[in-house]
Amino acid sequence: MQKTILITGGSRGIGAATALLAAQKGYQVCINYVANKEAALQVVETIHQQGGKAFAFQADVSSEEDVIALFEAIDPIGPITALVNNVGILEPQMRVDTMTADRLNRVFTTNIVSCFLCTREAIKRMSTKQGGSGGSIVNVSSVAARTGSPGEYVDYAASKGAMDAMTIGVSKEVAEEGIRVNGVRPGFIYTDIHASGGEPGRVDRIKGSVPMKRGGSPDEVAKAILWLLSDEASYSTGTFIDIAGGR
Ligand code: NAP
Repeated sequence: MQKTILITGGSRGIGAATALLAAQKGYQVCINYVANKEAALQVVETIHQQGGKAFAFQADVSSEEDVIALFEAIDPIGPITALVNNVGILEPQMRVDTMTADRLNRVFTTNIVSCFLCTREAIKRMSTKQGGSGGSIVNVSSVAARTGSPGEYVDYAASKGAMDAMTIGVSKEVAEEGIRVNGVRPGFIYTDIHASGGEPGRVDRIKGSVPMKRGGSPDEVAKAILWLLSDEASYSTGTFIDIAGGR
């Protein structure tokens, strides 16, 4: 059976690296983006040049309407067999005592409500109890779920803690329905996300605090995601791989 994967936020960073590796492993790749069409089309083009199949879909995954439309747009391509809930945002660094409700709503809606919505749509299509053939889901969390990101982004860290609880809970709900749900927790990875938090050079500033004394690459995270999605991880569900250089 043709394997079809959806990677939310697949246009850049960890999502783009996951898309390229998934194509190399024989998946039809559907990537989602919110604004950067050019970056998404570049990922699709690279996969096409390597002989793979790829499609890009614009959708804001924090919008329920957009998520429903996204999954309906993918339905004709093939039954979705893998989902990577990869979208995550950071807002500028600040302490909790200065965070507004608008910011908190944006971070929680984009980072965790989106994960519930995409997982719901995937389960409807994958569950053997609902006529599907099973599947595998990986949630891209963060070591921030463990550290709390004090002085920087406690809201972001809390959204990732919620993601980890959701991963454990939903994995048990669907374990008998042919669906495995796992998570990865990256540490400091070289992507654009740090610039959106106001500090493009953040990884280099703090890499000395990592036991391995370096930041990670998107590709190192992608490899763990693809392993968890694969049959190699067939007896693993509700579990996590930290990719954080020992942090
Ligand atoms: P990134 O480089 O900033 O890329 C973010 C991706 O998400 C882009 O493809 C972006 O699309 C998309 N996106 C953002 N908001 C969206 C929305 N509302 N709807 C749909 N797509 C949206 O991020 P990254 O560093 O690769 O992070 C990926 C995941 O890893 C996140 O969940 C992040 O929290 C997690 N993580 C990252 C690190 C790290 O150090 N980088 C560490 C731990 C965890 P556009 O291109 O259209 O903007």
